[in-house]
Amino acid sequence: MKITKVFTLLAMTGLVFTGCNNADKKANVENPFFVKWDTPFQVPPFDKITSDCYMEAFEKGIQEQNENIAAIVNNNEAATFENTIVALELSGELLNKVQGVFFNMIESDRDDKMNEVAEVILPKLSNHGDNIMLNEALFARVKAVYESDEAAKLQGEDARLLKETFKSFEFGGANLSPESKEKLRAINTKLSELTFKFGKNLSQETNAFQLIIDNQADLDGLPEGVIAGAAQEAKAKGLDGKWLFTLAEPSRVPFLTYSTKRELREKVFKGYANRCNNDNEFDNKEVINEIVKARVEKAHLFGFKNYSEYLLQDRMAKNPENVFGLLNKLWASAIPNAKKEVVEMQKIVDAEGGKFKIEAWDWWFYSEKVKQAKYSLDEEMLRPYFVLDNVRDGAFELAHRLWGLHFNEIKDIPVYNKEEVRVWEVTEEDGKHIGVLYMDFHPRESKSVGAWMTAFTEQSNPKGENIPPVISVVCNFSKPSGDKPALLSVDEVQTLFHEFGHALHGLLSNCKYRSLSGTSVATDFVELPSQVMENWALEPEVLNFYAKHYQTGEVIPQELVTKIQNSGLFNQGFMTVEYLAASLLDMYYSTINEVKDIDVLKFENDEMSKIGLIGEIIPRYRSTYFKHIFDGDPGYSSGYYSYIWAAVLDADAFQAFKETSLFDKETATSFRENVLSKGGTEEAMELYKKFRGREPQIEPLLIRRGLN
Ligand SMILES: [Zn+2]
Repeated sequence: MKITKVFTLLAMTGLVFTGCNNADKKANVENPFFVKWDTPFQVPPFDKITSDCYMEAFEKGIQEQNENIAAIVNNNEAATFENTIVALELSGELLNKVQGVFFNMIESDRDDKMNEVAEVILPKLSNHGDNIMLNEALFARVKAVYESDEAAKLQGEDARLLKETFKSFEFGGANLSPESKEKLRAINTKLSELTFKFGKNLSQETNAFQLIIDNQADLDGLPEGVIAGAAQEAKAKGLDGKWLFTLAEPSRVPFLTYSTKRELREKVFKGYANRCNNDNEFDNKEVINEIVKARVEKAHLFGFKNYSEYLLQDRMAKNPENVFGLLNKLWASAIPNAKKEVVEMQKIVDAEGGKFKIEAWDWWFYSEKVKQAKYSLDEEMLRPYFVLDNVRDGAFELAHRLWGLHFNEIKDIPVYNKEEVRVWEVTEEDGKHIGVLYMDFHPRESKSVGAWMTAFTEQSNPKGENIPPVISVVCNFSKPSGDKPALLSVDEVQTLFHEFGHALHGLLSNCKYRSLSGTSVATDFVELPSQVMENWALEPEVLNFYAKHYQTGEVIPQELVTKIQNSGLFNQGFMTVEYLAASLLDMYYSTINEVKDIDVLKFENDEMSKIGLIGEIIPRYRSTYFKHIFDGDPGYSSGYYSYIWAAVLDADAFQAFKETSLFDKETATSFRENVLSKGGTEEAMELYKKFRGREPQIEPLLIRRGLN
């Protein structure tokens, strides 16, 4: 995952925000956002930034950008690329500085005060955005430049910046009639309220679920570590001597996988699958109905048939037909695989004398049994070889072999959490500075779940002086325990390589303008640099340099490597089907053409039975908790397909290395020059073609997923 300006509000407290004059603020210390950062490599001065400083900085940032824009609009000279487009690009420097820190910190190390700030500032920022996009005098100047003789002479990134700026005004409603603009403002406000409500309902209902176990027998089958974790959870809630299971992944997934108590697995599964669908105060069905209607209305204002067409105009996929084309093609081959997997699991049930048919809540438990039987592979056999520090150094070594990069740890630099955060300077082979990389690997209460990459500072070079990137990778990996170092699961190893790929996209950026640099690319292209790196993680040649036993230092034995490789297609039917079902559900919502009430449950059931989803699988996200598409606007609406879209690209891109060598310098250099360094300065497909010499082919993905 990659997050830029995404946020979650977890706690809603009754505190009133009191601004930077708060008593907690160090007396007479100037707001650190208002001064030049004199830290090493100009990283944010985390030692000086407190939660009280954000609100004042946001407000001053908005005010300064308004002044910047007034200056552009009131310029007596005719509009030029420099005095309008570049001036707009460089406006809001302070706002950008504070957003870069705030929206990363609220995910990584939040406190109540930051939640308070977010609640106040989000609607203000949304309104601020509308004020810029719907500013008629500003758009008149942008349009004048766009239609001028000067525009025809612009080249490269300048031409691209002009085109993208003009398009973002169109996308934001600048061309609408005054009456439609008013409607748009109202719809945007409504959508920000509704999507906020969706997310709030979801987090409250998720947190409300508890499975409390009070007798040993009901723990049957669960691994020791999971039991210990549940005991700790219970103790924290004052339930000493009992065991508490929640819907959080580290609790729910092992429970579904290992618990031998079928009725308890069903309880946990249904608790998860029915969230916000219980006709109580947290129910999201009516919220979804209202969101969907507002989005169709918005699309109609812009003259599009539906929300998907409005959103896809600027993506690689271009239109809904192309998305459906890919999803339906994959669906047709994935469904038979999933059915075969059900048969294999049912055989085990029957052999054990179980008198029942496999249901959705049985999948994790019986697929694990199939895995053990077919591949004699147990995750716990691999963990000792995946020491977190070694895996990280393995990713660094890979970047060294491919691009000659060096990673030198910096000890004396401000960090936001002294126990958890470590920092590296990234340099070229010849020692030239590239950027700074922060890494923050373990869970804590102040951190959101999941894994992501962010930028504190994005690379740019607008005036011939490079501003190097400051990038951060945040994860929630297994912690060290006792005298054992942090030992990762295979999933976590791949996640580390994935986020490292996003980080390289930010670090190796070599662009002129910030809004076109690094990961500022189309939603369906951004997962290419990350997903492609995952391909290397489990290759034997790569495992050789990082997968070493934490006690003996022994390199992972060939026998285990073979087992990993043999099990590559395991459960792919299920994983592809549940993912595609959610992607299709997203597309069905976003291609509704009429503003009309829908019965959300009926809609979901009808669409899923039309495509032939089998009863043993539910979509990875059902409507009432599909936060990618309903928590935030547009969020990943009409965009959940992006992961598989990018998977076509990454499988095809990795094939280029397979055809030469895993560390082929020429292929690596081409990938860096044409993809990693280019940000969004050209159309994604053009960048890809320059790297690969042709358009991507789907076959490598089909083979990888057993769909050929
Ligand atoms: Zn990602």
